Amino acid sequence: MNATTKYSLVIPFMNEEEVLPLLMDRLDGFMADLDGAAEVVFIDDGSRDNSAALVAERARQDGRFKIIRLSRNFGHQIAVTAGLNEASGDAVIIMDADLQDPPEVAHDLIAKWQEGYEIVHAQRRRRDGETMFKKMSANLYYRMLAKLSSVDIPRDVGDFRLVDARVVRAIRAMPERDRFLRGMFAWVGFRQCLVQFDRPERQAGETKYPLKKMLRLAMDGVISFSDAPLRMALWLGALVSLGAMLYGAYIFSLALFTDRLVDGWASTIVILSFLSGMNLLISGVIGLFVGRIYTEAKQRPLYFVSESIGLTDVVRLPDQRPETRHVFRTPYQAHG
Ligand code: UDP
Ligand code: MG
Repeated sequence: MNATTKYSLVIPFMNEEEVLPLLMDRLDGFMADLDGAAEVVFIDDGSRDNSAALVAERARQDGRFKIIRLSRNFGHQIAVTAGLNEASGDAVIIMDADLQDPPEVAHDLIAKWQEGYEIVHAQRRRRDGETMFKKMSANLYYRMLAKLSSVDIPRDVGDFRLVDARVVRAIRAMPERDRFLRGMFAWVGFRQCLVQFDRPERQAGETKYPLKKMLRLAMDGVISFSDAPLRMALWLGALVSLGAMLYGAYIFSLALFTDRLVDGWASTIVILSFLSGMNLLISGVIGLFVGRIYTEAKQRPLYFVSESIGLTDVVRLPDQRPETRHVFRTPYQAHG
C-alpha cells in the first residue's frame, strides 16, 4: 500500500462499458489538478460486459488506476464497501461511474475537507434527466426517512461524498450485512457538512437501479436506521386491543340492559377478521426485523474478491489479512 496517497476515488461499476472510457479520461484531467498523489479504486461488481477488461487494461498501463473484481454481483452498497476496504488515501471520495457525480465537484468536497470537515456529503440541488416518478418518490422517501429514522440522514444525499481516512476506519469496523451506507455515514458522527451540486444526466448506458433495487435500498434504510415500524406495530396492537375491549364492554352492557344480543353475527366476523389482519401485519413487521437478525447471525463475509490489479493485500477471504479481520467479525468476537 502506498503511504503517500493523498486522495482515493472509490468507483463501483456494473456493466458500464459505454461510460468507462469517458470517465477515465475525465479522471485523468481531474487528478492532474489535485495537490497530491491520487489513486482510483475501481470495483467491478460482477459485470458481464467488457467493463472490467477496459479498466484492467488501463490499470496495467497506469499505476494510479486500480481494480478489484468481486466474484459476482453483490450490489452497489457492498461494492462501495469493498472499495473502502482497499482505499489508502487520507481522503476518500466515493462516486458513481456514470459521471452523474462530476469529478469537478470533488474539488469543492476537497476544499471543505481542507477546512477540517471529515465527512463532506454532496447534496443534489437539481436532478436532470430523471423521471418525474424518480424525483417524486425520492423526495417523499427522504422526507419519510428523516421523520422515522433515529439518526439525522441528510436529504437528497446519495453516495457521492468525501470521507476522511478516520471515517473509513470507522466504517470498516461496522460489519453489518444490510448496508445502507448513507445512514452509516450519518451515524458515525465526526464533523460533517454538505456541498450542493446539480446532478447531471448519466453520460452513457442505462440505470442499474431498477425499481426493485431502489425499493430494497429504501427498505434497508428504514429498517436499519429506525425502529419506527416496530413501535408502530406496538401502538397499532394496543389501539386495536383497546377498541376490542371497549366493544366488549358495549356488548356486555347490551346483555345486561337489553334483549337484542344475539343478532351480532356480522360484527363478530368483522372484528375477527380485523384482528387477524392486525396479527398478520404485526407479525410481518416483526418478521422483517427477525430476518435481519438471521442474516447478521450467519456471519458470512460481505463479499469475495476474485481478482485485483494494482492493490496488494486485498481482502479476498476472511483470514488473509489479519489486521482487517474485524471487518468480518461481530463486535462480540472482537472483544472475546
Ligand atoms: N452499480 C453497481 N452494482 C449494482 C448496481 C449499480 O456497482 O448492482 C453501480 C453503477 O455501475 C453505477 C452506480 O452503481 O456506477 C450507480 O448506479 P446507477 O447510475 O445505475 O444508479 P442511478 O444513478 O440510476 O440511481
Ligand atoms: Mg446513475
